[in-house]
Amino acid sequence: MGMAKGFGVTWRQMFRPRLTTEYPDAKRPKPERFHGRHVLNRYEDGMEKCIGCELCAGVCPAKCIYVRGADNPPDAPVSPGERYGFVYEINYLRCIHCDLCVEACPTEAITETKLFEFSFTNREDAIYTKAELLVDDDGRARRQPWELWMGDEDDHTSAWMRATSPSGDAEFEGRIAWSNELGFGERPAEPAQGPKASPDA
Ligand code: SF4
Ligand code: SF4
Repeated sequence: MGMAKGFGVTWRQMFRPRLTTEYPDAKRPKPERFHGRHVLNRYEDGMEKCIGCELCAGVCPAKCIYVRGADNPPDAPVSPGERYGFVYEINYLRCIHCDLCVEACPTEAITETKLFEFSFTNREDAIYTKAELLVDDDGRARRQPWELWMGDEDDHTSAWMRATSPSGDAEFEGRIAWSNELGFGERPAEPAQGPKASPDA
């Protein structure tokens, strides 16, 4: 009787949809708010969003960001601000992907992709430089040889939760809101989120 019951369970499972994939040859879609490796974003005109303020480095609990700002050359400014990120490095041997750097950034310069499939054989590769973090001309992450990107995974370099109120609007104090203009592309806010959502929604 027990054996028949056991076979019954096996039989039922055979016709259920499979949850496992042939990872890493096939990847399951990652959640919208997943925190992966970072990118440094640019405006549509190519200007860098980073203004070298070092707030991200100051807030990082793992002390893994190194930023050095410099004055923008008047004849060839790198960012719209007075200063830009002259040196920018993230040490991925220490990063805990908490996203506090993203929350702290006043210009939405730094966001996280959904990529976590990257491994290193030396320390140099683990410390991402500005040239590696800065998005390309299309606003997409620059793929490094030691990273396992697939298809259009780099479509998702934004979609995260901002813990502060949008634009300092007092009505949104303490509410978690959505910023849909970060990283590559724009995506709609989730229900009851975003600058236009009612605080009571
Ligand atoms: S995600 Fe967290 S640990 Fe990683 S660089 Fe940003 S603040 Fe630091
Ligand atoms: S990434 Fe943002 S917080 Fe960090 S230095 Fe640049 S502008 Fe400032």
